[in-house]
Order: sequence, then structure tokens, then C-alpha cells
Amino acid sequence: MSVRRTGPGMPARIPVAGTDPISLDSAPTDGSSGSGENGISRRLLMGLGAAGAGTLLMRPAFASPAAGPAEGEGVGFAVVGLGLLSQGQILPGFHSAKRAKLTALVSGHPDKATRLAAKYGVARDAIYTYENYDRIVDDPRIQVVYIVLPNAMHAEFTIRALKAGKHVLCEKPMATSVADAEAMIAAAKAADRKLMIAYRCHYEPLNLAAMRLIRSGKLGKPRMVVTQMGRQASLSDPADVWRLDMKMSGGGALADMGIYGINGARYLLNEEPVEVRAWAQTDRKDPRFREVEDLIAWQFRFPSGAIANGSTSFDYAPTMSYQVECAQGRLVADPGAFYNGNRLTVQTGYQSQVQAIHEIDQFAREMDWMADVVRGKAPLVSTGEEGLQDMRLMKAILDSVAQGGATVSTAFGYTRAIDPAKVVDVPA
Ligand code: NDP
Repeated sequence: MSVRRTGPGMPARIPVAGTDPISLDSAPTDGSSGSGENGISRRLLMGLGAAGAGTLLMRPAFASPAAGPAEGEGVGFAVVGLGLLSQGQILPGFHSAKRAKLTALVSGHPDKATRLAAKYGVARDAIYTYENYDRIVDDPRIQVVYIVLPNAMHAEFTIRALKAGKHVLCEKPMATSVADAEAMIAAAKAADRKLMIAYRCHYEPLNLAAMRLIRSGKLGKPRMVVTQMGRQASLSDPADVWRLDMKMSGGGALADMGIYGINGARYLLNEEPVEVRAWAQTDRKDPRFREVEDLIAWQFRFPSGAIANGSTSFDYAPTMSYQVECAQGRLVADPGAFYNGNRLTVQTGYQSQVQAIHEIDQFAREMDWMADVVRGKAPLVSTGEEGLQDMRLMKAILDSVAQGGATVSTAFGYTRAIDPAKVVDVPA
């Protein structure tokens, strides 16, 4: 079985269609202006002058020596759970990472861990099991623990890492319940350590370009966001067996794929929904869907008047795509959240143009960002609170489904602390 996937459950690579370059994705960090072919000011897109960037990007470093390495050294990461994502994306991602370095592995399978440690240059005495995991407290090679376990295990292993004085990068969805997500945030506060949720799209050039284009006003007022996130799940894939188990996944396709659409609508519109209605269509005779819902469709209403229609399914042909319909233009990201091969088309009037997007290793980028957070050189963008908001929204969707599509309030009072479009640069 190949472990290199294009997106969750996706094949390794999809062909990249021809592009017509315009400058949307490479806004300078020096605050200089400069226009894309659509006449979009880079300064507008970036929304970030040098002074503003400095304030946001420079945060005080931690006092504790255990919290971060000296200037110039890489930040040591322990990867917990050596499954498809770790083997296919994260471990190879360290080759491209500049400030994150792989220093430890945690696994329930010592043979696999030993083989991967040899392959990636991890010391044998830096291999841990789930049982002796708490001993990482005494390992100065580890500053960050990257949790890549089934969703139901995120909370326990995050909290244990935080108690050991480590910072945590945790895969999405951050947990399987609102209560667990809240406990993770509380543990990070109590330990005075950073908790970042691995929302890779917050650091990815296409999604940043889409956010900046909408923020620029060039396309006019955003009216409608449509997101489709799904794929075929299979009980013959061990990585899907737990995803089809309600207790382990916290919600099947919704928790695995739909979360990209929920988070995406929020970062594209840069606001939070106030209510949701949702419906599910699930064939309980299909052995995959004995516990979790299959197709879920929802509709969020936002304070600006924008509406977001989202859908997710484990019985879809693979897709991670979205459209944003604005008053004077529209953008289509299809695919918009694969590991590579993403494609952004922007339409103004009757003319549409495929944008040139600088493709990167998204996992290297995200891990480097976390390394910079730990070193006090970058703000924490995808916070625990950001993960908690999606947990609350997924719960609201499932509550609405359970009530046959009734309107459920989502006015939780959350506001994103930092807009990725304002602070995350696109690496050269
Ligand atoms: P896998 O099932 O492939 O890997 C999970 C690993 O966790 C296993 O290989 C195993 O590692 C370990 N594990 C420990 N206990 C269990 C258990 N009871 N059942 C199954 N595995 C166990 O899953 P993925 O790698 O695809 O997903 C892991 C996490 O990453 C999930 O939270 C998922 O949502 C997230 N993800 C995020 C993506 C993104 O783009 N950001 C894409 C794909 C996944 P070992 O044998 O080493 O103990």
C-alpha cells in the first residue's frame, strides 16, 4: 500500500493543469507595493506593512531553556503515531524543513519505529512507546511533540506532552469532543506551553492567495462559499477502520474531511457563522456507515449576510474543493486542499484566469512555522481555540442533523486572534 497521498485517502500526485501566472501568492514581506496582472496591490493583499509585520511576528521568547533551542539550532520534534500521514508526508517533510528537525519517534510498533529511525537519522534511544512516552520529560532533544494519532487519542497524548513540558502540534480535528478540546487548551495554559492545531491550509500559498484576494475587495463583497470535501472510505484500509468508528473518529467524514470546509469557509470569509442547518443521508446497510454519518450537507449563515454551503462524504469521488461567489467576481479552488496539484481560478466579469501558485511542502512549512512559534519568532496562528471552534461547529452540525435540519445557534463568541492572511508569508 502506498503511503504517499495527495490528500487524505488520495493518490500520490495529481497532474497540475497549465497555469497563467499572475502575482497573487507571493506578496512581499517588506511592505513594498507592486501589482498582479489583475491590478491587485500586493500591499493590499498582504495587508501588512513592515512595521505591522514586525509587531506581529516578533513575540517574546520563552524564559525556560526547555522551551526552545538557541538561535541557529533546529527545533527538535517527536512524531507520535507512525501511520499513513507520518510516513507519507510528515517524516519526508523534515527533509525540506529549515527550522524543524526530527529528533524522536513514538510508536506502538518498535520494529517499524526502529526502521524509520534508521531511515530518518533518529537516535535509537529517542524511540518511545505509548507506555514510556512520559519519559520525554527528560529528553532535551524534544521541544515539540507532533500528535499524528487517531482523533480520539489526541487529547490524552497532547495533555501528557504538555505535562512533560513540551510544546504540541496536534493534527486536526484536535479532539473528538468539545470537552476534550477545552481540556487540551487548559493543559497548555497550565503548562505555559504552545498548542498549535495542524491546519496546513493556514500556511499554504493557494489558500493564502484566496484569503488575500477576498480581503482585497477586488472581487467585491463575498456572498456565498461552497465547499465539497470527501472521498471513498474503505473498511479494507486500516487507516479508515478507525475513521468509520464514531468513538475513535468523532464523526466520520465530517471530522476527517468536512472540517476543511468548515475551517475554510471561516478563513475565506474571515468571520464566524451565527447559525447552521444540516442534513445527513446515510445508508445504514452499507457496512462503512453503521456508526458514522456518510453524506452531510450544511448551511452556515454569517453576520455579513454571506452563506456557506458545505458538504462532506465518505462515498464521494475524491474532492477537496471550494468556490467563493462575490459581487464582482468569483474564485474556484479545485482542488484547493490537496497536498499538491491545487489549482486556483479567478473570474472577474466573464474572464477567468488560472493563477500561478507556488507549490510547497505544506508539512515542512507548517512544522517550520511551529518551530518559529517556539523560538518566539512567529505568532501562534492556528491556536487551540481555533480548533475548539471547529469542534463546536461540528457538534452544532450533528445536533442539527439529529433534529432533522433544525436551525442551531453557533454564536459562540469566538473571534480568530490572528488572520493568517495578515501574517503568514509565502516562502521563496
Ligand atoms: P493512520 O491510521 O494511518 O495512523 C495512525 C497511527 O496511530 C497508527 O499507524 C499507529 O501508529 C497509531 N495508533 C496508535 N493507536 C492506534 C489505534 N488504536 N488504532 C489505529 N492507530 C493507532 O492515520 P493517519 O496517519 O491517516 O491519521 C492520523 C491523524 O492525522 C488523524 O488525526 C488525521 O485526522 C490526521 N490527518 C491529517 C491530515 C492533514 O492533511 N492534516 C491528513 C491525514 C490525516 P504506530 O503503529 O506507530 O503506533
